[in-house]
Amino acid sequence: MGSKAPIHILLVSYPAQGHINPLLRLAKCLAAKGSSVIFTTTKKAGKDMQTGCNITDKTVTPIGDGSLTFNFFDDGFKEDDPIRTNLSDYTPQLEHVGKKHVSKIIKNYADLKTPISCIINNIFIPWVCDVATEHKIPFAILWSESSAVFTAYYNYFHKLARFPSKPEPYIDVQLCSLLLKHNEIPDLLHPFNNYPFLGTLILEQIKNLSKALCVLVDTYEELEHDFIDYISNKSVVIRPIGPLFNNPKIKCASNIRGDFVKSDDCNIIEWLNSKPLSSVVYISFGTIVSLPQEQVNEIAYGLLNSKQVSFLWVLKVKTPPNEIVLPDGFLEETNGRGKVVKWGPQVEVLAHPSLACFITHCGWNSSMEAIALGVPVLTFPAWGDQVTNAKFLVDVFGVGIRLGYSRAENKLVSRDEVKKCLLEVMAGEKAEELKKNAIKWKKAAEAAVAVGGSSDWHLNAFIEDIKKRDP
Ligand code: UDP
Repeated sequence: MGSKAPIHILLVSYPAQGHINPLLRLAKCLAAKGSSVIFTTTKKAGKDMQTGCNITDKTVTPIGDGSLTFNFFDDGFKEDDPIRTNLSDYTPQLEHVGKKHVSKIIKNYADLKTPISCIINNIFIPWVCDVATEHKIPFAILWSESSAVFTAYYNYFHKLARFPSKPEPYIDVQLCSLLLKHNEIPDLLHPFNNYPFLGTLILEQIKNLSKALCVLVDTYEELEHDFIDYISNKSVVIRPIGPLFNNPKIKCASNIRGDFVKSDDCNIIEWLNSKPLSSVVYISFGTIVSLPQEQVNEIAYGLLNSKQVSFLWVLKVKTPPNEIVLPDGFLEETNGRGKVVKWGPQVEVLAHPSLACFITHCGWNSSMEAIALGVPVLTFPAWGDQVTNAKFLVDVFGVGIRLGYSRAENKLVSRDEVKKCLLEVMAGEKAEELKKNAIKWKKAAEAAVAVGGSSDWHLNAFIEDIKKRDP
């Protein structure tokens, strides 16, 4: 292959919003740096992505020096089939059809004499690594959680630390120099977690590492140095390449988004423009977590009672009989201080100068977006890695105050607690300390993705690794 020909990289995504977002961002970075990138996921997810923007199946879109092509496949279920929310039933079928589809793409590109040089997948679809191995194609894994969470799974899999077990469910876990309480480890590693099936899928991915070219992590060296160092010493090539969302290379493709929900047409940015500097609280619990009605009420009254605070709240309403409603007359009582939407352009919202703080469920994408945009947080995790991310946001990165605990604690956070935390994060000594730390991480994030920064260096090194192995 001549040195000028682009390398072809196939990205395979699990069909969920929190997985598609970081992989699509990586796709755009790789394309901008000159690769021909093929992004595949299910037709249903492809259709969901099309609600947020104009994405066309099998059309080559030039990005920077390279290109991006979507290639969606049928998972065999009707569009509204509820099986997709039952992961233990859905995932085996996804594996069955996905394996055939990925093999077909590999064959098609080989037939065209433009062979796939590397395959990248994300968590929950470890079988992609088997397909790559079968076709003798190098593969890498995009880990879209933190390096600390990766370390927890790695240590658990290799039995490098003691973890809670059924006879000893409440022991603490040593993670590098940090001691995590039993309820601060990723809860899929806890013996009494509700989704053992998902934990197993993630551990399958850890098993694949011995054959992987590397693991790419949506984090940056300066933020998670100790964990990146620790893993590097375990003979795994770990490449921190984030924050992906903030990579200047992808700005040229900002029209290609993966939003499953169309942003509410209610002038969110114009509304933010009308607010003073650092005055608005943004509330969002990501794409999966929904709060129970009683908790929604407490947050609503907490907002009402903290009289001077403006807020933008992304609220999943759900359908009857599980619908979530705001207390009667709530919006009228806030007197224009508040706006409630079904979906918002989160990155643009967090980057807005009127933003003061973010009440977040601490999904890693949301955490990374807040850290890298310098926004202090109130943490309200529910499950999975969110509980570990909350611990780090508060006690390690120093950008947050703990508001809620995990869903397993089953504890209602009262309106008084909401009000107290809101006032603390908005003004005073603690608020200043959080903002100072947040700005420090923001600057470090910008430096990491700038040309010659640590994340930029790792992304270039990854592309060079692929080229070296190209036949
Ligand atoms: N998001 C968004 N608008 C919203 C809510 C969420 O753009 O109104 C995006 C957010 O920016 C993030 C992703 O959806 O990139 C959610 O991912 P995260 O890992 O935070 O949580 P998950 O949904 O996977 O629990």
